[in-house]
Amino acid sequence: MTTKLFWNDSHLSRFDAQVVEAVEINARQAVILDQTAFYPEGGGQPCDTGTLNEVPVVEVQTDNDGRILHFLANGLTLAVGETVVGEINWLRRREMMQQHTGQHIISQAFFQLYGAETRGFRINDRLTEIDLTLELQPEEIEQAIVRAEELANGIIFDNREIRVHEVTSEEAAKLPLRKESFITDCIRVIEIDDFDWSPCGGTHAKRTGEVGLIAVRRWERAKKMTRLHFVCGSRALDDYRLANKSAEAAALKLTVGREEIEASVVRLLDDNKRLSRRVRELSELAANIEAAELLAASAFVGKMRIVEKVFADRDFDEAKLIAHRLVNEENVVALLAVREADMVRLVFARSANLTADMNALMKVACEKLGGRGGGKPDFAQGGGNQIEELQAAMKAASVMAAV
Ligand SMILES: [Zn+2]
Repeated sequence: MTTKLFWNDSHLSRFDAQVVEAVEINARQAVILDQTAFYPEGGGQPCDTGTLNEVPVVEVQTDNDGRILHFLANGLTLAVGETVVGEINWLRRREMMQQHTGQHIISQAFFQLYGAETRGFRINDRLTEIDLTLELQPEEIEQAIVRAEELANGIIFDNREIRVHEVTSEEAAKLPLRKESFITDCIRVIEIDDFDWSPCGGTHAKRTGEVGLIAVRRWERAKKMTRLHFVCGSRALDDYRLANKSAEAAALKLTVGREEIEASVVRLLDDNKRLSRRVRELSELAANIEAAELLAASAFVGKMRIVEKVFADRDFDEAKLIAHRLVNEENVVALLAVREADMVRLVFARSANLTADMNALMKVACEKLGGRGGGKPDFAQGGGNQIEELQAAMKAASVMAAV
């Protein structure tokens, strides 16, 4: 069985080892060592990466037999018996230890303050999450998070010692463990001085100060529990930088202080809603006027008037509104087109007293434009991207309408 050097010293980043077995799993090469500092994925903590004799180790997993498999980069392998120098990606390990140790601390903070247990834990790509049995009203949760954050960060700022104990189940039973251990022989207990005792097989900081800072990003209800997303250490700094950058940029654009951004955005959204309503009202008035002008400029074909118009870069909804207004009058066929950057959109409509089929007209016009369209006998819409055929399409529709 591989000796787990990461258990004896979580800060060991370089080590010597011997390759005892080389295996191929699903066409991927992996090696097993006599001892390793590589932490295999488990207990919510992602695995280490690094190198063995400069061959990249891309993933480390424990198999069903408890063997620690070091998966090597594509196509590369190491010989059995070979002595290797292993090097783990220390910045990644430190980042993971900060999240993992931070989780012990924040979990104990919620347990002490609210009796809430941690039922799930995952270090994700950017945020770490825990599922808490925290049953508070949504309006109470924000305050609870602030209190737990303050307790947890106080423990970090104390820079308390973190000790590892290997105990029997009888000895473990006498310790104030935050959670039960599923292991019965030699139990590894992580003690955060005078604060938390948890059975755990992960890698931890030596003192709480290494965690740097814990900041809760947000919470949500999930699986009938309270799911917390948080960041520790270097991730907290990255997260602060990102939040700071966007807050400063928003404050500058809004010409307000950071603390006024939210109120300012709410005001803008209200203004926007009010203005959109006003624009809709004015568009309807403008459509009435524009329809009347188009109608006045159109010629009679017998009793009927065919209003043909191509708009450049016009809002299509406005064009539809104008079409509706035009056919409010009797004996009108409206053939309207909107030219956009890379396509043409069409809306055809006719007065209720006429019989021409707009659906049929639309199909013919769209075919010429290399597109599709359809609708009802009195109102149809469509379009296509062969803009150069627009004139021919409109001509075909107008000839059909006049029959
Ligand atoms: Zn742990």
